[in-house]
Amino acid sequence: MNSSFFQPKLKVLILSTPVGALGSGLGGGVELTIANLARELRSRGHIIDIIAPAGSELGDLSIVQIPGKLQLTAQTQELAASIVMPGNPVLANMWAKAREIQHNYDIIFNTAFDWLPFYLTPFFNLPIAHFVSMGSQIAAIDLAIERVAIDFPGTIGVCTRTQAKTFSFADLCCVVGGSGVDPAVYEYCETPEDALAWLGRISPEKALEDAVAAAERTGIKLKIMGKIQDPDYWAQIQQDYPHAPIEYLGFLPTHELQKSLRTCRGMLMTPRWVEAFGNVAIEAFACGVPVIAYRRGGPAEIITDGKTGFLVEPDSVDGLVAAIDRLDEIDRSDCRHAAETVFSQSAWGDIMESWLYQLIK
Ligand code: UDP
Repeated sequence: MNSSFFQPKLKVLILSTPVGALGSGLGGGVELTIANLARELRSRGHIIDIIAPAGSELGDLSIVQIPGKLQLTAQTQELAASIVMPGNPVLANMWAKAREIQHNYDIIFNTAFDWLPFYLTPFFNLPIAHFVSMGSQIAAIDLAIERVAIDFPGTIGVCTRTQAKTFSFADLCCVVGGSGVDPAVYEYCETPEDALAWLGRISPEKALEDAVAAAERTGIKLKIMGKIQDPDYWAQIQQDYPHAPIEYLGFLPTHELQKSLRTCRGMLMTPRWVEAFGNVAIEAFACGVPVIAYRRGGPAEIITDGKTGFLVEPDSVDGLVAAIDRLDEIDRSDCRHAAETVFSQSAWGDIMESWLYQLIK
């Protein structure tokens, strides 16, 4: 029985990321997180509405579409960067809409990693659950989050302890996990082909070049799936590794993604930054695919070394290559089991639901 059985049903307004339309891939893992959260809460009888940039699409989920210019992504900016808003900002437009319709809801769920939603928090009449999906990036945003963490205790949710530690106010953050997968959406594959996978936004902080170097060294094909966020960076990788056995499959919808992913022997995660969580790790598990990652950030909390994958020395291509050699030691059903239990959508739904109930008290 889930935690909502004896509780009132909630009306939740989810505010999406302002860096891209849902379905575009520009928002990274937050896009899947929003979809999974909305579906899980809806299946428990809660009423869920989503406000997102115009052009957003999430299958069966209805979205209030808001026009305006997109925000810059925080991960491309300096620590000392100022807060920048374009003319006609979609972020401000989304929050103006939220203010206008707030009386219809019990709680707002914010997924934007930007200054404005934190600044606006005291001006709203209802609680705001801030789902913070990145570590410290810009000092001005950190300060705005800290202010809310102090004035509205319990409202700052982070994905992992490692991510919390990037903030000076780590102790004021609630670790609520990053997402959960619906195992029914991903098919388990017991006998893979001789290929590796790399998934994610193609952008320097993800260090795809390390995975490509490992593919070149081992001669094992690397299937790459994801949004090309930085075309120059992608062109440079192709130029630097002309003989690496790589295949770029594009930015795939979840159904197509799991079809290509599940037949791989392993997935490589090579982030240079402190990844807050790493949705792609739990998606790989759902397919029975072990994950090799640098021992840093969210993946180090998600992967059980030697059981659901391997954790290797950060930034070490040698480490990746050595772990690839050991992939056969992993029982793929252990990965699937992790996705069906700890990292399932319903397990994460329990955490989210009790967090939201706590905040409306
Ligand atoms: N993804 C996708 N299609 C692709 C490759 C990736 O939909 O072809 C999605 C994937 O499902 C995941 C997201 O991209 O939800 C990447 O999220 P992650 O948390 O790994 O990293 P982030 O981009 O948030 O840093």
